[in-house]
Amino acid sequence: MNLTERDLQVIWHPYTQMKTAQPPVGIVRGEGALLFDEEGKQYIDAVSSWWVNIHGHAHPYIAKKVSEQLHKLEHVIFAGFTHQGAVELAERLLAILPANQKKAFYSDNGSTAVEVAIKMCLQYWLNKGDQRTKIIAFNNAYHGDTFGAMAVSGRSAFTKAFDSLLFEVEFIDIPNKENIESLKSQISDLKSQTACFIFEPLVQGSAGMIMYEAEYLNELMAHCRKEEVMLIADEVFTGFGRTGKSFATNHVQVEPDIMCFSKGLTGGTMALGLTTCTQQIYDAFLSDDKLKTLFHGHSFTANPIACASALASLDLFQQPETAENIARIKAAHTAFADKIRNHPKIKTVRQTGTIVAMEWETGDNTSYFSSLRDKLYHYFLAAGIILRPLGNVIYILPPYCITNEQLNYVYSKIEQALVEL
Ligand code: PMP
Repeated sequence: MNLTERDLQVIWHPYTQMKTAQPPVGIVRGEGALLFDEEGKQYIDAVSSWWVNIHGHAHPYIAKKVSEQLHKLEHVIFAGFTHQGAVELAERLLAILPANQKKAFYSDNGSTAVEVAIKMCLQYWLNKGDQRTKIIAFNNAYHGDTFGAMAVSGRSAFTKAFDSLLFEVEFIDIPNKENIESLKSQISDLKSQTACFIFEPLVQGSAGMIMYEAEYLNELMAHCRKEEVMLIADEVFTGFGRTGKSFATNHVQVEPDIMCFSKGLTGGTMALGLTTCTQQIYDAFLSDDKLKTLFHGHSFTANPIACASALASLDLFQQPETAENIARIKAAHTAFADKIRNHPKIKTVRQTGTIVAMEWETGDNTSYFSSLRDKLYHYFLAAGIILRPLGNVIYILPPYCITNEQLNYVYSKIEQALVEL
């Protein structure tokens, strides 16, 4: 039996138990932007393996640093103990985040980084003696699959089975020129009892790479600040260069109170989550009253291997070549977007930084389960490209080390698909 056959006997994969989903491809090796299956067939990982592998696969520098750490210290309880990697990573990240971010809280994935942010914020108000329980989020948001993260995500087919158990959230539309004033008055109406506003800055990834302008996000954030509604920027997906700047919040002037990171944080080598916050929030938990502590901790919190992997990834991220690669991909995406924008089968093309997304014009429905989605997925897989469409939206979000040749191959296959499908 090959890997796929053995897998099907024993494994339950995320998001793939639909009858139309194809059996998982057994991957045995990765190198740069490429993954190789058991038969030696290569695939260009055009989605950075769920938006994670910013430096590609099996990067020798990250591998070396992780291996060194493995021989030194693999894990230590993070309550009452600390270690070099956790401290250094927090110091280095806080130095490049908006200046008001002063404390770093570790967890182990994007959903838990969001859970921490929500708990931090709700308890912040409680500790201050002003219990606020309302949360504002964007329609179509995605913040993760755990219960708190699901609650602040837009209700969809994914949450349907649990909707009655999710805490209530006020959902508002993403901002634009036309609706900004009405969104601001909606926030003013909601402000009493409102603990925070959580948002994916500039790009709603899982909703289909829906993009909105920094100018209106900034205005909304400024309004929340005025109304004392805390700001949680979920940079789990946008962090580490995806929008062209290090963080999507670098495109706005207002600083969020809390920020969430994962995915690109470790360059994909290990799972790690991070929630950062202001001194003001941290101080509200400093008390002789033990009940004011933030009771949250995961067994693998700040795992030293994950921290070593994040530090190595950050070293690479801060090398000039990475910024050059991001600029190179951005320019190539822009040229490609211009080329196909007016194609009759393309409804819209959206682009920011290293993300380009194309929504297909089609009579089919645009949900996650659209039949075009499956067709596109299989078409590109057969061509040796991993592109996981979101409904009728295909997007390219490559590792920054992708070569021009690989990128051009992906573009040419998309053009070919426009003719053949
Ligand atoms: N927030 C955002 C903005 C995300 O895009 C995701 C994952 N797609 C998450 C949170 C959840 O991260 P994880 O899958 O690591 O739990």
